[in-house]
Amino acid sequence: MSPELIESTLSVNDACFREVVAAGEPFMKEIKKGQVFRILDLEGNQAVDTLFYSARDTQERYDANNTIREQGNIYLTTGTILRSNESNPMLTIIADTCGRHDTLGGACSAESNTVRYALEKRHMHSCRDSFLMALSEWDKGMGKRDLSSNINFFMNVPVTPEGGLTFEDGISEAGRYVEMRAQMDVIVLISNCPQLNNPCNAYNPTPVEVLVWES
Ligand SMILES: [Zn+2]
Repeated sequence: MSPELIESTLSVNDACFREVVAAGEPFMKEIKKGQVFRILDLEGNQAVDTLFYSARDTQERYDANNTIREQGNIYLTTGTILRSNESNPMLTIIADTCGRHDTLGGACSAESNTVRYALEKRHMHSCRDSFLMALSEWDKGMGKRDLSSNINFFMNVPVTPEGGLTFEDGISEAGRYVEMRAQMDVIVLISNCPQLNNPCNAYNPTPVEVLVWES
């Protein structure tokens, strides 16, 4: 069953914040309660590894388990409530022109690049390193222990009837986006995935744009 694609009612000209996140780069920003946050896949087929923290207490953060259980589905799309480890609603997805976002695939790292691909891939740029670099620049004492199971926006990881995970070619295209309204003050942490070894970025990482609207 393919999900229903829901377009936004917001105009890009009304956005109060716009920034292009280059291929392979991280991004971190606070989004206030009521604000609308959009991630736009500029060139298509780009995985955007994302974590959310409560701005008030960063020990409260996005939790895949609570999100999946409460909606009874492993994929994210319009209507999904992104829940915290305390099961509080953090953001609600209100528009989605891609239709499927992954909750299970996790982030690439030097270690996974070595195990999955080859020893000489160890020193390639990875999402885990991008997350750690952004947390270090944020300079609030966050680090490794703040990295939990992340969302992969625009990434296609279908689960087989036997429960197997498969990393498939993306279903996103240039101009597709996902948009969510913050239900608490949140900090968003993104790694615009630099992975070159699997089809999550079509073997070619590309930029995305992040936009914010006032409530
Ligand atoms: Zn990655």
